[in-house]
Amino acid sequence: MKLLIVEDDRDIASGLQRSLQRSGNAVEVRSDGRSALLALGVHEYDCIVLDLGLPDLDGTQVLRQMRHRNVQTPVVILSARDDTGDRVLGLDLGADDYVVKPFEVDELEARIRAVTRRALARRGDDLGAGSLRMSLAERRIYIGGHPVDFSPREFSVLECLLLRQGRVVGKRQLLELIDDRDSDPSEGAVELYVHRIRRKIEHSGCSIRTLRGFGYLLQVDGEN
Ligand code: CA
Repeated sequence: MKLLIVEDDRDIASGLQRSLQRSGNAVEVRSDGRSALLALGVHEYDCIVLDLGLPDLDGTQVLRQMRHRNVQTPVVILSARDDTGDRVLGLDLGADDYVVKPFEVDELEARIRAVTRRALARRGDDLGAGSLRMSLAERRIYIGGHPVDFSPREFSVLECLLLRQGRVVGKRQLLELIDDRDSDPSEGAVELYVHRIRRKIEHSGCSIRTLRGFGYLLQVDGEN
């Protein structure tokens, strides 16, 4: 995914940039509201991570202006603990979600994935590879036009791989998706899910590659 981080704290911004790049995203950083709006006029992003407290235009003003210009890119707000009023205003202005500082990068990444997915579903977009099509609105999977049964967790794992098609998804990230809190899922559980999904998508023209020590990658057969 292509992400824009708008954050004036250099340490937070560069830490976030590194982590999000490590998970396979293209990440740009802007440290004030005006340059963020300029970037939004030129590039299209899959998601914007927007700090509320910025030096010139604050986050809510950036949000207001971008929605005013009909930029509908999903936004996750970064908010300080005492920013409650602005956080509510941000959500009213059309932010999709927020995390409160200090936060775990994993949590932010999960929010980014969720809002991006919801935005795709709103647009009625499907995810696909080969003859496999995933309808996010129906939460169904079709191979060669025929519906194939997937359990909700198998669906989530495949969705994550499809959203990051051609890029490596770490085992830990997939582990979070199948964590049901009753049992103690292990990396072996991830392998089991991937094994089941592989069998179901066998004739779809795409497959899941294992990169030992890293994770998994979904690719269209014949592409490298
Ligand atoms: Ca700030």
